[in-house]
Amino acid sequence: MFKLVVKYTRQFTWAAILAPLLVALEVVLGVLIPQVMTSIIDDGINGIGGSNMALIYQLGGKMVIYSVLAMFAGAGSGICSAIASSGFVHNLRLEMYERIQDYSFKNMDKFEVPSLVTRMTKDMREIRMAYMAIVRMLIRSPLQLIMSTYMVFKINSELAKVFFVAIPVLGIGLYLISRFAHPKFRVLMKKFDAMNSSLEENFVGIRVVKTFVREDYEKEKFKTTSEGVMNQQRSAEGLVILNGPLFNLVMYACMIAVSYFGGRMIIGGSMTTGQFMAYLSYLRNILFGLMMVSFALMQIIFAQASVDRANEILNEKPDITDFNNDESLLLEDGSIKFENVSFKYSENAQKDALANINLDIKSGEMVGIIGSTGSGKTTLVQLIPRLYDVTDGELVVGGHNVKDYKIPNLRKDVAMVLQKNVLFSGTIEENMKWGDANATHEEVVEACKCAQAHDFIESFPKGYETDLGQGGVNVSGGQKQRLCIARALLKKPKIIILDDSTSAVDTDTDKRIRQALKERLSGMTSIIIAQRISSVMDADKIIVMDDGKIADVGTHNELMERNTIYHDLYETQQQGVSE
Ligand code: ADP
Repeated sequence: MFKLVVKYTRQFTWAAILAPLLVALEVVLGVLIPQVMTSIIDDGINGIGGSNMALIYQLGGKMVIYSVLAMFAGAGSGICSAIASSGFVHNLRLEMYERIQDYSFKNMDKFEVPSLVTRMTKDMREIRMAYMAIVRMLIRSPLQLIMSTYMVFKINSELAKVFFVAIPVLGIGLYLISRFAHPKFRVLMKKFDAMNSSLEENFVGIRVVKTFVREDYEKEKFKTTSEGVMNQQRSAEGLVILNGPLFNLVMYACMIAVSYFGGRMIIGGSMTTGQFMAYLSYLRNILFGLMMVSFALMQIIFAQASVDRANEILNEKPDITDFNNDESLLLEDGSIKFENVSFKYSENAQKDALANINLDIKSGEMVGIIGSTGSGKTTLVQLIPRLYDVTDGELVVGGHNVKDYKIPNLRKDVAMVLQKNVLFSGTIEENMKWGDANATHEEVVEACKCAQAHDFIESFPKGYETDLGQGGVNVSGGQKQRLCIARALLKKPKIIILDDSTSAVDTDTDKRIRQALKERLSGMTSIIIAQRISSVMDADKIIVMDDGKIADVGTHNELMERNTIYHDLYETQQQGVSE
């Protein structure tokens, strides 16, 4: 926690330093005020020559000044700690967000999205609360404790013996409460995580829930999760709330004891009324300080789980980084060469997802990839823009090893339309400009025409200004796919990869997209992964994948003649069409 605080408070350090200083001033004034009060009572009211109004006014004025200063110091420290804590969390959040943006697909596979969201929101709140506690309580309370204890011993060390009983009772009580409450809070955090995950899953998949008429099941599931949170919260907070009665019990017991023994001392003449009054104030300060320290420590302990979770994000090493900082190295052309490439998703994976891949694709070729689900088609193409790094062998794209390029240079020339297409909220035109921020409207239209998207866009009342809604909810699956292809085309890449990107498009439109790619974008290498052989049969070469290996490479006619997997697949699909 302290390491994070030092590292991320940055431009708000002034507020982080000023806050405890102002707190210290507030505490010092808080300790001085009872002393002034003692003088008012003992010297002003019960003075040797009777009441002394002038002295009372003078001391009263002093007390007002101290009180006003204490108020400003308190308010100032509150403002400074709010500035420092929110600034610190802002810096931390930004840093975490930046790290996540640098994550590779492999890094992302490690963290679940709802967990990332919880870490960036709820965990940040916990850390902020602990930060405030450190700045305000951890400085204030020990200082208040030390100074007040010094004062009570100074005023009357005999009476201070009361504290020898009170402080251990309160200390042990608070320790026991925090000890039992801490594990309960940890469980509570986990239950919160589970609730957020279930919420996010439900909201993201609300359409599926409705399609399968699973609303009642989902409601019941959420009710159980929420009840879990409620019960845990009740049990954890129910325990912490005992702090209050314990504090009151000890304080009133002390007051009774101090009143009893103090009263006897006043009667016996070894203590003045003013000293007695100040004593009661210090007593409150001491016990209150003790309770605040325990609260602050508890807050820090709770936040430790959140700090660990934030550190996991910050310490995760992006596994795909630039090996070479040569900005000028660009793809010479759209050629791709796999030399003995093998790939595993993780070191512990038992089997290679790709094994001994050798493949030579010339610039400008149209290549089809066919194979059963799980045969490694997506894995193969994901290596080209370095979404994952090869485990073994060498992958040469555009004349150089992929690792030689700076990542933006490589990805600028390799456009990939992923299987899970995502569009973002905003208009169609804005979404298209993800491909090229400087593209003109004519260029956007040209790309959309090529992806066979122009006609349906024009049919919308607002045309290219149609708002897509979050995640592109306002268009159909097939329309979304075509928009994603157009967006990739706008990059004017040297290589375009379509990973099953026309699965929701009718065969006729699919054919027109391929024709347009071939005619208008000659010179660009295109790789098309498809389930339908009709989608790839006119490609220059077709790769047949099987169980992470290349089973065959050839043209449609060659494969029909010699490759049984391909031949059988074609026959089955043809039957499907004729039926
Ligand atoms: P295809 O595209 O041919 O359907 P994939 O390339 O997606 O197949 O998957 C090949 C193999 O790799 C499958 O066994 C799949 O379970 C595994 N796989 C795919 N993605 C991941 C991932 N992110 N982490 C671990 N294994 C994966």
